[in-house]
Amino acid sequence: MIKFLDLAAQYESIKPEIDAAIANVIRDSAFIGGKYVKEFEQQFAEFTQAKHCIGVANGTDALEIAIEAAGLPAGSEIIVPGNSFIASAEAITRCGHKVVFADVDEDSYTLNAEGVRSKLTERTKAIIAVHLYGHPCDLDALAEVCKEHDMILIEDCAQAHGAEYKGRRVGSLGNLATFSFYPGKNLGAYGDAGAITTEDDALATRVRMIANHGRISKYDHQFEGRNSRLDGMQAAILSAKLPHLEEWTARRIEIADYYLRYLAGIDNLILPVRKAWARQVYHLFVIRSTRRDELKDYLGAHGVESGVHYPIALPKLLAYAYLGEVDQQAFYNRTDSTLLSLPIGEHMEMKDAAHVVNLVREFFSQ
Ligand SMILES: *Cc1c(COP(=O)(O)O)cnc(C)c1O
Repeated sequence: MIKFLDLAAQYESIKPEIDAAIANVIRDSAFIGGKYVKEFEQQFAEFTQAKHCIGVANGTDALEIAIEAAGLPAGSEIIVPGNSFIASAEAITRCGHKVVFADVDEDSYTLNAEGVRSKLTERTKAIIAVHLYGHPCDLDALAEVCKEHDMILIEDCAQAHGAEYKGRRVGSLGNLATFSFYPGKNLGAYGDAGAITTEDDALATRVRMIANHGRISKYDHQFEGRNSRLDGMQAAILSAKLPHLEEWTARRIEIADYYLRYLAGIDNLILPVRKAWARQVYHLFVIRSTRRDELKDYLGAHGVESGVHYPIALPKLLAYAYLGEVDQQAFYNRTDSTLLSLPIGEHMEMKDAAHVVNLVREFFSQ
């Protein structure tokens, strides 16, 4: 049996550290705010090479708060890729702006400048660059479009902890960046958690205030904010896990390289392409085949779990029917029925990757 995700195995491998972290938070009653949150924020800022890190309640809130902090005129258009988890787009609407879907690069599945340029209007005020599947977007090209058109660049790093663009960590390259620590993400909490990183002092302060009722000190509310805090327990757990993340990521990359090498050259199987400038952290390893459903069943019947990310491109969801238009030619709309995520993660040994490769090869030889 090869699982898609095995959080129980991960816990077993670092049990004393996690148990101690939880016990410390309870002993210190440091449930909200306090030293464990501060410590994690510092550690994660360092990890992302960003100046500021502000913990929030989850990755969706992180997006909403980042967009709100940008202070755009109501009803601004914000460009987002048509292939992502719904949160990337949902946050735009929640902040009173308009979702505009743009097409993506066919190798890396990420938003590119060409896709953005084709959707620009004078109302476009920001773009959400999703580093999908752990592959960074071409940020220099996106930053250039943003500069030309006076737009804000928000990185959605929910799938890309530790990914690098031209040797620099994602999370420090846009105006604002958002992270999710949902349990199944590359760095996951034991519940919901998220963070925002930024280089900008004023944005950092604004983000911190929005997430904590519009205040810096206890009852000095300067505007109406909300409650979206990273809690102490999650922060302590994340701090216990963070020192292991590089090793876990290295295993993901090793498995991905193995898949890329040994699944090459199969008819009707398209592999993801990692750009020369990218350090991809492979939150997901996504292949494409017109025999996707059959292959998924075959793997399942042989004890190998797989996933589909995402089965319905965002513009085709009922939630976006109100936009009134689906671009049938867009890459994400043409390919969503062919995507398959093979198992990948630190819970797998290289022999497990070899087993997956053998099964996939066996399937396509029939
Ligand atoms: C998981 C995810 C989110 C949302 O994060 P939550 O912590 O679940 O709210 C946002 N964007 C992307 C791309 C994601 O994968």
